[in-house]
Amino acid sequence: MTPILEARHLSRHFGALRAVDDVSFSLAPGELLALIGPNGAGKSTCFNMLMGQLRPTAGTVILDGTDITGKKPRHIWRMGVGRTFQITATYASMTVAENVQVALLSHHRRTFAFLPYATRLYRDEARALLDTVGMADQADRHAAILAYGDLKRLEIAMALAHAPKLLLMDEPTAGMAPRERVALMQLVADIVAERGVSVLFTEHDMDVVFAHAHRIMVLNRGQLIANGAVEAIRADPKVQEVYLGG
Ligand code: ADP
Ligand code: MG
Repeated sequence: MTPILEARHLSRHFGALRAVDDVSFSLAPGELLALIGPNGAGKSTCFNMLMGQLRPTAGTVILDGTDITGKKPRHIWRMGVGRTFQITATYASMTVAENVQVALLSHHRRTFAFLPYATRLYRDEARALLDTVGMADQADRHAAILAYGDLKRLEIAMALAHAPKLLLMDEPTAGMAPRERVALMQLVADIVAERGVSVLFTEHDMDVVFAHAHRIMVLNRGQLIANGAVEAIRADPKVQEVYLGG
């Protein structure tokens, strides 16, 4: 099976710093893969290269068999790679449903110069996506008054509006309470199971990672020091030493 995503010998240097150093991995369709590692390990740098935000110093990124190295973020997004941001990117003055409708409009390459008209489009699709993320009952609320965890769910619905094959989530649960974290990753796991979307995510909370990831990769000082099943990673002395402080 062709991997949905492949990084081959990916590196990014900032001056003398090797923020990402010769990292290779692949992601299978329908896989929920965690990238973990201490602060400054190079996780976000890795994500930024995969999304076209940052040009690699060396190496290649292959999306579904196509070399996308150095392509612009918009191009990569059009090829079916969605992402959620650490800072939520919703329109505060619109309702929850309208935010998803705008994402659907954008997916269908329609502009929304006149909002009252735009928000009559894709209403049912928006409701269905809100249902997927458990927010159907909040469709008519203004995004500005949403709780943080609900904003994150909205952001996921907006990412799904683009029907991505792959979702990149850099710390999707940052700033959330432990219980919210577990619930959000449960939602992501459900989406993976139901839609066959592949997900690469980073996460600090090890309980969340161990509970939901199909596989875990560990980055330390820019290098991939482990890559395997949850139990193997848990038992790996290298991982315990650098990451879990054990
Ligand atoms: P993580 O997401 O794992 O916490 P980052 O990828 O953000 O780590 O950072 C990896 C290393 O690269 C850190 O030492 C960070 O300071 C450095 N770094 C990240 N972005 C830049 C940049 N634009 N310029 C210089 N150094 C950077
Ligand atoms: Mg980071």
